[in-house]
Amino acid sequence: MVSTDVASAHVVTAILVGLAVGSFVNVVVARLPERRSLLHPGSTCPGCGTAIAWHDNIPILSFAVLRGRCRACGMAISWRYPVVEAATATLWGLAWLEWGPTLDFAVAVLFLTALVAITAIDIGHQIIPDLITLPGIVAGFGANVATGRVHWLDSLLGIVVGGGIFLAIILASGGGMGGGDMKLGAMFGAFLGWKVALVALFVAVVLGGGFALVLLGTGRVRRKDPIPFGPFLAAGGAVGLFWGDKVMRWYLHRFAE
Ligand SMILES: [Zn+2]
Repeated sequence: MVSTDVASAHVVTAILVGLAVGSFVNVVVARLPERRSLLHPGSTCPGCGTAIAWHDNIPILSFAVLRGRCRACGMAISWRYPVVEAATATLWGLAWLEWGPTLDFAVAVLFLTALVAITAIDIGHQIIPDLITLPGIVAGFGANVATGRVHWLDSLLGIVVGGGIFLAIILASGGGMGGGDMKLGAMFGAFLGWKVALVALFVAVVLGGGFALVLLGTGRVRRKDPIPFGPFLAAGGAVGLFWGDKVMRWYLHRFAE
């Protein structure tokens, strides 16, 4: 049982590191769309400008202790902060359980952390920033060249197929989808390879379409209102990363024999 205890201790470590990374993701989400430095200055309250002490900046805990308010001025702190931290930590824990101490784990958490940042930024600003997706395309291709988890040609094809699908939609619809979605599709291809990227896009369309139907059906949005697709793409990407290979194998076994 010793090895199990050691393994679960490491899951806790992965979750704690994920919490700290999630805290940094919050900085990225707040500052990257405004092109502010990610490192300087330290965190301040957007309401009163008071510097936030380290003990008021502990992921999730501080939000709970402060009951979601600035200690100095009492301004409400966005729920985005603890949610982003919890999501990042959960994904890091799940990735550790799936891949353990491997290079694949490092690549997986890089991809998943980028997806959390993209989701929060798209919800807040309706953009998927090039500053994440363009380096992401390079990182995904480079990681697969280094690890061989996905064949480099599969990854390269993925960039073309993942980006190409969105390019075709943009050209056919004259808008409707943004260039940000296209670059995220290419990033999926780079990390996941073209087949699993298609699984990820399919999952995203099902989730996003279902959500849109619910909103339309309940009269929460009108037909022309834009619904950000980034969060559904991100969810599809995570599903593709964890289960894409299994879905592909099941599909090939079920329909191609
Ligand atoms: Zn304040």
